Amino acid sequence: LNYCSPSGIINDACCDYETVEKTNDIISSRISELVATDFFKYYKLNLYKECPFWTEYGQCNNRACAVETIDETHLPESWRSIVLGAIQTSSAGPQFQPYKKCEYRDQDFCVVEDEADIEGVYVNLLDNPERFTGYAGESASRVWEAIYGENCFNLVHDTDLSKISLNPAINRQQLGSPSKVKAKKVDSDVCFEKRVYYRLISGLHSSISIHICDEYLNQTTGQWGPNLDCFISRFSNHPERIENAYFTYVVLLRAISKMSEYLKVYEFCTGDKEQDVQVKRMVSELVNTADSCPGTFDEKQMFASPKSRLLKEEFKLHFRNVSRIMDCVGCDKCRLWGKLQISGLGTALKVLFSYDDEYFNPKVHPNLLTRTEIVALFNAFNRLSESLKAIERFRMMYQQRINDL
Ligand code: FAD
Repeated sequence: LNYCSPSGIINDACCDYETVEKTNDIISSRISELVATDFFKYYKLNLYKECPFWTEYGQCNNRACAVETIDETHLPESWRSIVLGAIQTSSAGPQFQPYKKCEYRDQDFCVVEDEADIEGVYVNLLDNPERFTGYAGESASRVWEAIYGENCFNLVHDTDLSKISLNPAINRQQLGSPSKVKAKKVDSDVCFEKRVYYRLISGLHSSISIHICDEYLNQTTGQWGPNLDCFISRFSNHPERIENAYFTYVVLLRAISKMSEYLKVYEFCTGDKEQDVQVKRMVSELVNTADSCPGTFDEKQMFASPKSRLLKEEFKLHFRNVSRIMDCVGCDKCRLWGKLQISGLGTALKVLFSYDDEYFNPKVHPNLLTRTEIVALFNAFNRLSESLKAIERFRMMYQQRINDL
C-alpha cells in the first residue's frame, strides 16, 4: 500500500505530500470548474504535423483514438484564424512576416501553438477526454523511448553552445536521433537540474498512465471506470513514479503562484462580458489558494551557478525536442493531450526560468503569455490535479480490497 500513500517531504520540493493533498482538496474542484468554461475548454493546435524524426505508420484506428474538432464559426470572433491572421499583418505590408518561420522565441521551452495557424484546428477538450484508448505497442513505446532519450544532457554540456544550431535537423545530428537513444533512468548523483528534468517528464508519464487506469474501458461490459489492477501493475514496483506525479504538480502550482498578480488582472475574453467576469473571479480564487500553499518549489535553486547558462539552454533544447516528438504519437487523442500537456509544462518552465518575479507586472508586460499558453498551463494542471485525486481513490480501493480478503 505504501507506494500509493507517500508521506513526508517531496524530494526536490519544499513541501510534504500531506500538505499538497490538502491544497489539492480545495484546488481540484476549482480547477475542474474553470477548465469547463469557454475560455479554457477550446484549444487550438496543429494536430496533424508530420513526425520530424521518423515515419510514423502506427495510426490508431480505434474509435477511442479519434478527436472531434469544431468549426471556428462556433467560437468568439476574436479567436478565429482570419482575425488573428489579420492582427499579425505588419504595417510594412502583408509580405513582411518576420516571425513566420519561427516556432518559438528565446524564452520558450517548447514549440508554441500558433493561434493564427490556418492548419490548426479547434477542439473542445471536454468532448475529447484523456482516457484509455488502447494505443500501445511499438509506436507508443518508441515515442516514450525517444522522450526519455532527450534525458541525455552530456553532449551539449561539454560543447560550445554557439555551435549548437537552432535548426532541429542539425540538432538531431548533434544530439543523435531520439529513436536511437535508449530510455535512461537518472542516477541518484546527477545534478539537481537534470533530475528535475527527468522527474517532470516521468511525472507527466505517470499522470497519463493514471488517467488510463482511472478511465479504463471494460471491454466485456462496455463500461468506463477505474481499474485497480491496471494501477497496481503500472505502479506497485515503481513508487518513485507516483512521487514524480506529485513533484510535477508542485512545479505547476509554483508557476501559477509566481504569476498570480498577472493572472488576476488578465483579460479572459470570450466575447461574453458576464462570462469574462466570472472566469476572472474563478481564476483569482484559484491563484489565491495556490498562493496559500506554504511551500512548493524553489526555482531559484535551478541554474544558479555561473556555469549553468549552458545547462539552461540545453534544458530548453531538449524540452523543445520533446514537444516535436509529440507529433510522432500515432493516436490523435493521445497526441492532442500529449501536445497540450507538454505545452502546459513548457509554459510553466518559461514562467519559472525565463522571467524574474517583477516581470509579471501586467501593466508593464501585458502580453507575456498567449491565450494558448494559459489554456495549456491550466489544463495540464487540471490533469495533474485529477491524477492526485485518482491516486487517493486507488488508495481507498486497494485498502477495501485488502479488508475484503
Ligand atoms: P508505457 O506507459 O508505454 O511505458 C514505456 C516504458 O517507460 C515502461 O516500460 C517503463 O520502463 C517506462 N515508464 C513507464 N512509466 C514511467 C514513468 N512514469 N516514469 C518513468 N518511466 C516510466 N494511451 C491511452 O490509452 N490513452 C492516452 O491518452 C494515451 N496518451 C499517450 C500520450 C503519449 C504522449 C504517449 C507516448 C502514449 C500515450 N498512450 C495513451 C499510450 C500509453 O502511454 C502507454 O504507452 C500504453 O498504455 C502502454 O503502456 P505500457 O504499460 O506498455 O508502458
